Amino acid sequence: MLKFHHSNNILIIGGGIAGLSLALKLADHHPVTLLTKRGLLESNTLYAQGGIAAVLDPNDSIEEHVQDTLIAGDGLCNEAAVRFTATHGRQAIEELIELSVPFTACQADDEQDCDLFPFHLTREGGHSHRRIIHAADHTGQSVQLSLALKIRQHANILLLEHHTAVDLIKRENRCVGVYALNQATDEISTLASPAVVLATGGAGKVYLYTSNPDLATGDGIAMAWRAGCRVANMEFMQFHPTVLYHANERAFLISEAVRGEGGYLKRPDGSRFMHEYDERLELAPRDIVARAIDAEMKKLGCDHMWLDISHRDADFVTSHFPTIYKRCLGLGIDITKEPIPIVPATHYTCGGVVTDLRARTDLKGLYAVGEVAYTGLHGANRLASNSLLEGLVFANAAYEDILMRQAEGKLIAPPTLPDWDESQVNPSPEQVLIAHDWDEIRRVMWDFVGIVRTEERLKRALKRILVIREEIEDFYAQYYLNTDFIELRNLALVAELIVRSALSRKESRGLHYIIDYPHQLSEAEPTILTPKVLSSG
Ligand SMILES: Cc1cc2nc3c(=O)[nH]c(=O)nc-3n(C[C@H](O)[C@H](O)[C@H](O)COP(=O)(O)OP(=O)(O)OC[C@H]3O[C@@H](n4cnc5c(N)ncnc54)[C@H](O)[C@@H]3O)c2cc1C
Repeated sequence: MLKFHHSNNILIIGGGIAGLSLALKLADHHPVTLLTKRGLLESNTLYAQGGIAAVLDPNDSIEEHVQDTLIAGDGLCNEAAVRFTATHGRQAIEELIELSVPFTACQADDEQDCDLFPFHLTREGGHSHRRIIHAADHTGQSVQLSLALKIRQHANILLLEHHTAVDLIKRENRCVGVYALNQATDEISTLASPAVVLATGGAGKVYLYTSNPDLATGDGIAMAWRAGCRVANMEFMQFHPTVLYHANERAFLISEAVRGEGGYLKRPDGSRFMHEYDERLELAPRDIVARAIDAEMKKLGCDHMWLDISHRDADFVTSHFPTIYKRCLGLGIDITKEPIPIVPATHYTCGGVVTDLRARTDLKGLYAVGEVAYTGLHGANRLASNSLLEGLVFANAAYEDILMRQAEGKLIAPPTLPDWDESQVNPSPEQVLIAHDWDEIRRVMWDFVGIVRTEERLKRALKRILVIREEIEDFYAQYYLNTDFIELRNLALVAELIVRSALSRKESRGLHYIIDYPHQLSEAEPTILTPKVLSSG
């Protein structure tokens, strides 16, 4: 086993759409080490259903995509990042098509002319145009499988699966590598590198109910913060309005495309309610739909609402939503005949590690791409299907910057680094201690930092989280690490960053709705948190 790996490889931490697409491009020019916390196929990307937004239909325009994104972001997007993303969308999709991602073919109808673009484009909430390219309702899986296949075949990529990055290594204010736990041997390796890329995804697991897989514990955000990078807009956690509600089923997302293709939200008595909240009805932006469902649930004392697509032709439903159809049918719900029980759940982390348009963070040699990053694209609310696009576009930006540095001779070889010091520590803490803190954080976040917030609840949450964090940091100095413990430490820190960001925003905007400050301030400013210690490491 690789205990100390001193290399010239570019190090990419994370194998979702951002990490994989970057690794494939870079590896044609430079050796790459790719680290994934679980197997190569497990990521948030794998679960993405709806698709990827990009201006592909000649009747659509970059300007309309920009405007839709700005509207969803509720005044808080960085317009330069929005234009950059929208402008580079088509190229990003063309590259996926070249990699043989099996997107669904165009089916000519009133709204799409297949002579103009050969793949089907669906519509989602907040988009003024059909703009979402997809592979039926399993887009993420198709992308992940296509990219992973190529990654395994690439001779210039060293793939380290089941390796958990613990912390970044800094020398003279430059990131020079990472400590990583090999889950098979429980040993911690020192991986040195001339450039490190965080592609670790979001932090949905910080809440009790989430559409995200278990790996979404905000590791990259926490590592970057500890290394001295700024983190922005963490109060804007997006709740997906429609996650399947079922006692025996792990959270399963009912794609926004179901509403895009005509699905109705209903109360238990079968009546629709979105007209009481927004004139865009079921296609209003996600924050509005999630709050409407939350309000109806609270008003009626129900634990879920209903989403009904059964009025559409059964063949249409089964061909457009085969995964959702099969999964629900397996639980005894035939979506071609009856409505689906749904609840809102945490879905997407709009904030993250501050980057520029080249995906560079505050720390030299460190990049962040995909959901871990705050590029300014999403503002106060992510427009549906813009996140896979952001992952692709900013992975490409990092790729170009790294190649430019290479060409200019600025990829500095890392120094010799010391081994991880485990001489003073004891066996890992009892699992029950980890499980308890983990549950408490997620419950506190759900109850006190949820869809509708108050200052008192936020303050209460902060108090609890600080106590837990102190306990965890005590453990950290005393015990051997395992992945659960590393994730708990990161989750607790990210929870604190979310609460601190929420407390500092004295207004309601986008996804952040706080009863004490129901109105918007006239000036929209991102919440940027700066770590206190910016030591040279
Ligand atoms: C159910 C669901 C449906 C979605 N649908 C859509 C959609 O239709 N359209 C859209 O645009 N977006 C969608 N999203 C959002 C989108 O999928 C994500 O934003 C995107 O996939 C994130 O990609 P990523 O590459 O940044 O990270 P991820 O895909 O989350 O990958 C993270 C990677 O980092 C690794 N990692 C994490 N921590 C560590 C560590 N400490 N050490 C080593 N490796 C680590 C993980 O193992 C994994 O390989 C959806 C999300 C979910 C959960």
